[in-house]
Amino acid sequence: MAQNRPIPNSTEATTPSRFAYDEAARSLVVEWRDGVTERIPFDRLRRSCPCAACRGELGSPGRFQLDPELRPGEDDLADIALVGNYGLKVIWGDGHDTGIYRYEHLRELGSRPSG
Ligand SMILES: [Zn+2]
Repeated sequence: MAQNRPIPNSTEATTPSRFAYDEAARSLVVEWRDGVTERIPFDRLRRSCPCAACRGELGSPGRFQLDPELRPGEDDLADIALVGNYGLKVIWGDGHDTGIYRYEHLRELGSRPSG
């Protein structure tokens, strides 16, 4: 007899229920709908900025390919804003605000062991 076992709902794992800051740990705290809470260090978040300038495009090197060092303020998280129902815009201390992190991307960043 076939079991009617629920399939894990992937959207629960990529839908945030709450964002918070952990200033002491310099991390973004994300609570996901599936009950998992993750921390994403600001520097990892900054280095993972998905915007064209940071990632590089059309043969141009990205921000951290040119210079892997973080500049002052670059990984100071100034603010966040929800974008539609799919992502998070992050505003950095140096004014950089063109990166929109899809929730799937955030979930991947938080899942990685720190270090
Ligand atoms: Zn960027």
